Amino acid sequence: MTATPQQLADVLRPVKHVLLDFDGPVCSVFAGLPAPEVARRLREDLLAAGEQAPAGAEGASDPPALLRLISDARPDLAVSTDAALAALEAEAVRAASPTPGGESVLHACARSGRLVSVVSNKAGTATEAYLAEHSLNGFVAGVFGRTPGDPSSMKANPRLLLEAMDAAGTGPEYFIFIGDAARDVEAGEAASIPTIGYANKPGKDAKLAAAGAVVIVDSMELTSDALT
Ligand SMILES: [Mg+2]
Repeated sequence: MTATPQQLADVLRPVKHVLLDFDGPVCSVFAGLPAPEVARRLREDLLAAGEQAPAGAEGASDPPALLRLISDARPDLAVSTDAALAALEAEAVRAASPTPGGESVLHACARSGRLVSVVSNKAGTATEAYLAEHSLNGFVAGVFGRTPGDPSSMKANPRLLLEAMDAAGTGPEYFIFIGDAARDVEAGEAASIPTIGYANKPGKDAKLAAAGAVVIVDSMELTSDALT
């Protein structure tokens, strides 16, 4: 199911602007500070502020899902909860593990004259901190993280991709998006941008294909080779 180098090269040929999901294609954000621990600390922050966790929050182990849940139940807490999560994400990225080949894709884009923007459900501040820490900020034209206090901006909503496209001032025909979740493919589709599915775990290839990914890759190195 994984694309051949030829298929990948064909998909990438017209591309002038690569949109990259962050958690997955660039690094594993929660490699050192696990997501369930981040969710637990987010709940703790809420209690420390004298608030009660809404129904369903106790069992939530996925930080963005928890942010959504709290913001839906208590819109008045959306901004502060988002800020608390952004701080935890900033801590998490310091212990994140780089994706093999992720950096090579950024370098390959620079060498082949393609612009890169990072489009992430994580906080833009945490994403930028990771890129700076790894000396990658010079390879990225723009970072489009979730809108602070507005979890509805997160993919599968195409909003962040549309913002990236707007900033570039070019149409979707020159873009490709690389993401590792079905919601990335859905966001791409809604923005009329084809998505390369990065299947970094067993079983993801079928999910990404079913969501409509144009091709599937199981390594970022393969993508970087096809870009050059
Ligand atoms: Mg991802």
